[in-house]
Amino acid sequence: MRTTTVVIGAGHAGLAVSHFLSQRSIDHVVIERGEVANTWRTERWDSLRLLTPNWQSRLPGFAYDGPDPDGFMTMPEVIGFIDGYALRVGAPVQANTTVTSVRPEPDGYQVVTDQGMWVSPTVVLATGGFNLASIPAVADAVPGHVDMMDPIRYRNPDQITDGGVLVVGASATGIQIAEEVHRSGRPVTLAVGEHVRMPRVYRGKDIMWWLERTGVLDERYDEVDDLARARNIPSPQLVGTPERKTLDLNALTDQGVRLVGRLAGIADGRAQLSGSLRNLCNLADLKMGRLLDTIDQWVRENGLEGEIDPPQRFRPTRIDESPPLSIDFGKDGIRTIIWATGYRPDHSWLHARVLDRKGRLRHDAGVVVGAPGLYRIGLTMLRRRKSSFIHGAEDDARDLTDHLSAYLGVGAPA
Ligand SMILES: Cc1cc2nc3c(=O)[nH]c(=O)nc-3n(C[C@H](O)[C@H](O)[C@H](O)COP(=O)(O)OP(=O)(O)OC[C@H]3O[C@@H](n4cnc5c(N)ncnc54)[C@H](O)[C@@H]3O)c2cc1C
Repeated sequence: MRTTTVVIGAGHAGLAVSHFLSQRSIDHVVIERGEVANTWRTERWDSLRLLTPNWQSRLPGFAYDGPDPDGFMTMPEVIGFIDGYALRVGAPVQANTTVTSVRPEPDGYQVVTDQGMWVSPTVVLATGGFNLASIPAVADAVPGHVDMMDPIRYRNPDQITDGGVLVVGASATGIQIAEEVHRSGRPVTLAVGEHVRMPRVYRGKDIMWWLERTGVLDERYDEVDDLARARNIPSPQLVGTPERKTLDLNALTDQGVRLVGRLAGIADGRAQLSGSLRNLCNLADLKMGRLLDTIDQWVRENGLEGEIDPPQRFRPTRIDESPPLSIDFGKDGIRTIIWATGYRPDHSWLHARVLDRKGRLRHDAGVVVGAPGLYRIGLTMLRRRKSSFIHGAEDDARDLTDHLSAYLGVGAPA
C-alpha cells in the first residue's frame, strides 16, 4: 500500500502530527500496535496520575475542559482524553498493527508491519521515548534470591514479594513507587542518584504554572549550553495528587523510607553505594533554590509582588550523618529491587543508518540525520524543554510537519 506519510504510533504525539498533516491535506496513516494511547493502557502502574495539572493537558485544537483544572488525571482519564483527541481530529488510525521494520528504498521508506507493507516518501516515528526500562549493567550481578522489577511491568505492590525493597533511582517514577511500596508495609530503601527537587506548589501556584509562565518549558534545544546533558536531565521529583502534595526526599524520610547513596556496583551479595549522597542532595537543593530565585525575579519584573503569595524557601534535604556505603541483600532483608533508573526509546526495528554506536537516533531536533523524509517526535528535549510532555507536542508537531511539507513541496494550509 502507498501513502504520503506513515506515522508510527497513536499516542498523543502521533495524533498531533496527524492533525497537522490533515490540515495540509497530506494523505497519511497512523499505525499503532495496540489501541490509541496504548502506553497509558499497558505500561503504567495502577495508581499513577499525571504530574502535569489538567489545565496543562492540551493538544492542537483540543484541551481539558472538565470541572477540575488544577487536578491531575488518573490513567483512565488520560486514556479518555487521548481517545477523545483521536476522535476529534479523525485520525486515520490502523490499530493492532505492529511495525516490524522501517528501511529506506528508492521512493522513500518501506514500512513492514504484521498486517502488510506500506511504502511512503515520508515517515514520522511517534513511537514514544519511554519504551524500555533503562537498567544498568550491574543488574547482572544481583543475587538469584532477589527479585527484580521495572516500572513498565510494575502495577501495584501486590506483585512484590514480602520483605525489603530497594528502589534504585529517585526521580518522579522512583519516588512515587518507593512511597507506594513502603505504604504497603514493605520497608523501602531508596538509592538516590542525581535528581531534580521541586515543590508541588510555590507561592500559591502549581510549579508547572511557574515553569510555563517564566518560559522555562519553552526553552529551545538551540538555546541550551549543553544539549546532550539537557536531554538526559532526570524527571522532576513531582507527583500529582488531589491534595497537591510535595513528595521530596524529606517527605519520604518522614514516612520511614531509608535514603542511601547511588548504587555503584553489586558484588558478593552486597550493593555498593556511592558516598555522594550528601553532595547530590546539596546540589539538588541549590538548583531548586536557583529556580525559585528565577521565579521570584520574574514576579518582581512583572509587577505581581502584591498579587502573589510571598516567597518561600524549603528545608534542606535531611541526610543521615553517615549513610551506609553498602547493603547486604541477605542480612538487610532486601527481597526485591525495583529499577527506577530511567527509560529509553526502542528503535530496534529501524533498519537505516541513523543510529549512533550507542543505538541512539541521530537527529537534528526531530529531523533524522542522513535520512531525508524521516522524522522523530516525542523524545526528551527534542526541540524544547516541554517536548516530552503532552502539551509540548503541539509546537514540535507543527514544526516537524512544516519541515515535512517543505520536503514534499506541499504549500501551507489555506
Ligand atoms: C511514568 C510516566 C509518567 C508520565 N507522566 C507524564 C505527565 O504527567 N505529563 C506529561 O505531559 N507527560 C508525562 N509523561 C511523558 C509522556 O507524555 C508520555 O511518555 C507519552 O506517552 C509520550 O507520548 P508519545 O505520543 O510520544 O508516545 P506514546 O504515548 O508512548 O505513544 C507511542 C505509541 O507508539 C506505539 N508503538 C511503539 N512502537 C510501535 C511499533 N513498532 N509499531 C506500532 N506502534 C508502535 C505504542 O504502542 C504507543 O501507542 C510520562 C511518562 C512516563 C513514562
